[in-house]
Order: sequence, then C-alpha cells, then structure tokens
Amino acid sequence: MQPMIIHADRAFTPFEEIPDAVIVVQGSGISAVGQRGKIDLPRDAREIEARGKTVVPGFVDVHIHGAGGHDVMEGTPGALETVAATVAAHGTTSLVATTVTASESETRASVAAIANFILDAKQNPARKLSAEILGIHFEGPFISPARRGVHPEKWIALPSVALLAQLLQEARGTARILTLAPELPGALELIRAARESGIVVSLGHTDATYEQAQAAIGAGASHAAHVFNAMRPFSHRETGVIGAVLTSSKVSAELIADGVHVDEAAMRMLIELKTPERVILVSDGMSATGMPDGKYQLGKFEVNVSGGVARNAEGKLAGSTLTLDRALRNMVAMGVPLASALRMVTANPARQIGLGSRKGVLVPGADADLVFLDDKLEVSGVMTRGAGLALAG
Ligand SMILES: [Zn+2]
Repeated sequence: MQPMIIHADRAFTPFEEIPDAVIVVQGSGISAVGQRGKIDLPRDAREIEARGKTVVPGFVDVHIHGAGGHDVMEGTPGALETVAATVAAHGTTSLVATTVTASESETRASVAAIANFILDAKQNPARKLSAEILGIHFEGPFISPARRGVHPEKWIALPSVALLAQLLQEARGTARILTLAPELPGALELIRAARESGIVVSLGHTDATYEQAQAAIGAGASHAAHVFNAMRPFSHRETGVIGAVLTSSKVSAELIADGVHVDEAAMRMLIELKTPERVILVSDGMSATGMPDGKYQLGKFEVNVSGGVARNAEGKLAGSTLTLDRALRNMVAMGVPLASALRMVTANPARQIGLGSRKGVLVPGADADLVFLDDKLEVSGVMTRGAGLALAG
C-alpha cells in the first residue's frame, strides 16, 4: 500500500510537542514521526498538507455506553458500528464498550455479542472511519444500591467470583475493566480474581469509607469510575472513597468533564491532586450522544435528554452526551495546558488498559489513529488505523 506523508503545523505525541511536524503512515500504522527535515521520508508517498492544524493521537474513551441512537448493550453489529462511527467523527478513535447493570442473562448475551463483534473486527478491520472497540468495561452489577445512580436496583448483585468467571467466559479475552463497590461483602476476593485475569479494577458506584477503599487499592484496584459521581461524598473527617482515590498514586481517576457532572472547583482539585498523568477524561456517553434532545435508552431503561443533559424519570443524571473533543476543550478553557489535557484523553487511558504503545500515542509502531485540530481545538479531520481521513477547513 502506498505510504502517506502528513505535514502539519505541529503535533503532540502527546508527551512531546513537535513543530513543523511530519507523520508517515504505512497501511494502518505510523512508521515515522518527527520534525520536517529531521526524519527520512519514503519516496512515492501520497502527501497530505494539514496546514494550520495540530495533529494529536486519537482519543481513547474507556467509559462509554452508546452514541448515535444506539447502546452497546444492543450488541448487534449495526448498533456497535453506529456507536463507533458516531464518536469517531468527534476524534474518539478507540473505545471500551461499557455495560450497565442488567439481568444476568441480558448481560451475558450483550457481552457475548460485543465480544463477537470485537473478535470479528480483528479478523476484518474496518477500512473506513470508525473507532476500534478495544474491549468491554463492566459497570456493575457489583455496585452499591446506595450509590447506584440510574443503574436498576433489581439487577444489582453481590460480588461473585463465579458470576465474574461466567462474564469473562462470554467475553472471550475482551474484558478490560470491572467497576465495583469495594465495601460489598466478597469484594476483595473478587478484586483479586479480576486482577489475576488481567482486568483493571475500578472503584465506582460506591459508598466505601476511606479504609474500605484503601483495602481495595491494596488488593489491586487501580482505577476509579467517574470520580465524585455516584460516590460517598467527601467530608474532612470521613473522606471516604474520594479521599482514598485523590491521595493514592496507584489509582487513575475518570472524570466526566462536561461542566454538569462535576463542578469546576472539584475538577481543579482532582487535576491538582492526581496530576495530569493520572486523570482520564471519559464521556460516560449514552445513546443520545450526537443526537437531538428527546427520549433515549440507557441499557434497558428510558432517559430524557434536554439541553444535551441526560436524566432518568427521577431526575438523576444518566450518563452524558459528552464527546471527548468537547471534554478536551473544556479542560483547556479551564486553563489546563493543551499537552496535559491531551494526555488525559490519549496516553493515560491507553496505558491504563495496557495498550500504551499501540493507542493514544504518535510513535512508530502505533496505530495510525490521528485527530486534526484547528486553532479553536475543533476536530477538522480524523484518521482511524490509516483510514477515513477527510480534512475540513
Ligand atoms: Zn456510572
């Protein structure tokens, strides 16, 4: 296949800023990145001029339920393709399909269907603009009824190594993250079992005390789901799970930076304490993402979206319609340096799921997942594994 040479005003790897940048794409991967004149370029390449643009790695969303009118739990190729194509237009070039708490049979069927899609796509990768589904994030069913948010109480389950084993069997090697409440009986044993299977354990939808959360971190939990949301609130005498997450260097923290889920001062506190290395911006996006206001499904339950904000019948926040390009702009608008904000949507989430050399970075050998940003940080072009680029503006 003919190689491609992309010229842009600058690139972020994201660890390094390269002025007058050149990126060489061969097939679905990156073969060279550097400053013009400082790297060898292939002959007979197709040249693409991205003047005025900043090239950054494609965004990696480790907590997303749906988009484009579909929920990942539908599990059909059509639904998953729609989700993947919708978010790709916003710069998300890979994602971890996130389940919500549902009946055991429904969860198993969804997991099996998503796994099929992922394994099929590995055999026949899409040669068009589409986010790669990297795996499955189980949000529940082992969560706290007291902090369940909109997850249906009826299907919440106590930690069970046997149930996890069944889900992992359905997932056929595609399970990546398990969000659980560590204060529940049996949680520590479940955390150890998940870690032994290579699953990232995430604290979330939890009423844990500081001590309970610390015990979970000691057992191997290294991630926290949408920090501040669906967690026991922080108090200066009982800091709870938030105190443990904010002060442990072993834990990376998800943040829904839509300006609705978490107040700006709390977002600043999180970034100060975790440092930009351990903050992971997530969308928690549901099916209404990229769609007009109206009624939508999150898993099996109905959600009303008004002004882009998703709530259930009780008025509880039910995921978001955020996309990671907007989350990035929100961070920069708060004064976070672009290089730091970029890490939170690229290298940090990729590293957390063990894909730090293939995703979320512009380095030789990584997938050619590229986002082209204009001077307002709006997405003006996206490439997914070497395909799909159409530059606007
Ligand atoms: Zn949640």
